[in-house]
Amino acid sequence: MSVMRSLLLAGSQSQWLKEQATRYGFVRRSVQRFMPGEELEDALRAARALEEQGIGTLFTKLGENINERHEAESVTDHYLGVFEKLSQWHLQTEVSVKLTQLGLDIDPDFCYGQVERLILAAPTGSTVWIDMESTQYTDITLDLYRRALRKHSNVGLCLQAYLYRTDDDIAKLLPMAPAIRLVKGAYREPPELAFPKKADVDENFFVLTMKLLGDEARKLGTRYVAATHDAALIRRIQQWTSEQRIPKQDYAFTMLYGIQRGEQARLAKEGHVSKCLIAYGPYWFPWFMRRLAERPANVWFVARNLLSN
Ligand SMILES: Cc1cc2nc3c(=O)[nH]c(=O)nc-3n(C[C@H](O)[C@H](O)[C@H](O)COP(=O)(O)OP(=O)(O)OC[C@H]3O[C@@H](n4cnc5c(N)ncnc54)[C@H](O)[C@@H]3O)c2cc1C
Repeated sequence: MSVMRSLLLAGSQSQWLKEQATRYGFVRRSVQRFMPGEELEDALRAARALEEQGIGTLFTKLGENINERHEAESVTDHYLGVFEKLSQWHLQTEVSVKLTQLGLDIDPDFCYGQVERLILAAPTGSTVWIDMESTQYTDITLDLYRRALRKHSNVGLCLQAYLYRTDDDIAKLLPMAPAIRLVKGAYREPPELAFPKKADVDENFFVLTMKLLGDEARKLGTRYVAATHDAALIRRIQQWTSEQRIPKQDYAFTMLYGIQRGEQARLAKEGHVSKCLIAYGPYWFPWFMRRLAERPANVWFVARNLLSN
């Protein structure tokens, strides 16, 4: 892991830095590259514009690690309100949630109750996606996902290709017909748990994709989403799926708002299911720092905003 990436990920957990950074206009301006605004209405407007280009959307309200039940309940209530708005706006948008924002640290059973409220209220045909957080939560997140999947089919889980264990986790999930969103992984993890070299993470992403989209997995009813901005990897997946004659409608690509916009539009134009995850809300600091860590060149973009002050 590069020194810069490591520093940025460490900074994402600093309360002091958070208080300093969120005060400055140039930081707030930089954040706008990755989110259309802090309000739900901003996300709804962005979703409408993307839909016009044939790009589907997911929403996530930023925030993590809350410690009070009423805070978790208000996040759930917020998402229930989102479902209502989506129907008013006639949007097919799905939601993606962080379990630590829904009370995982307080009580896993309570958190499950919050997730189930969302699964039950989600619009017909819509999947509720569960984000994957740092490795201290991997087991408990998988447990909660299995519990939900036993009762409901409209729930999906994010898995991280940088973890050695993901191959095994997938093998165990396949008989349950899971919906998996595969990502490289955004947290700071030790070399005992995660591939330290980017090339190995990239290769594992492709190997896991072949597993998730293979004949056996598809026969079992697995749904697969490739959540990456890596254009070379996307082309490799496209080439392999076309050689295997896997219909484009059987899988999807998803990227984050503001990143690789051209690639998102290209995939949609070529008839792929192309989606964009839109984040919004006032608690953007740790999330924004993870976006900087993914591409240290983004730090220069923040610096440019400072200089143009
Ligand atoms: C829809 C979606 C959901 C996600 N959910 C989770 C989750 O639940 N848990 C989790 O751990 N991680 C999640 N991630 C983040 C993921 O783990 C990676 O950290 C992130 O996607 C960067 O990796 P990459 O696959 O894009 O490849 P990289 O190799 O990091 O990037 C490939 C190329 O994409 C572009 N790019 C990538 N990131 C940025 C950026 N921040 N700014 C500008 N350009 C960039 C650059 O051109 C870069 O060269 C999610 C990502 C997406 C797209």
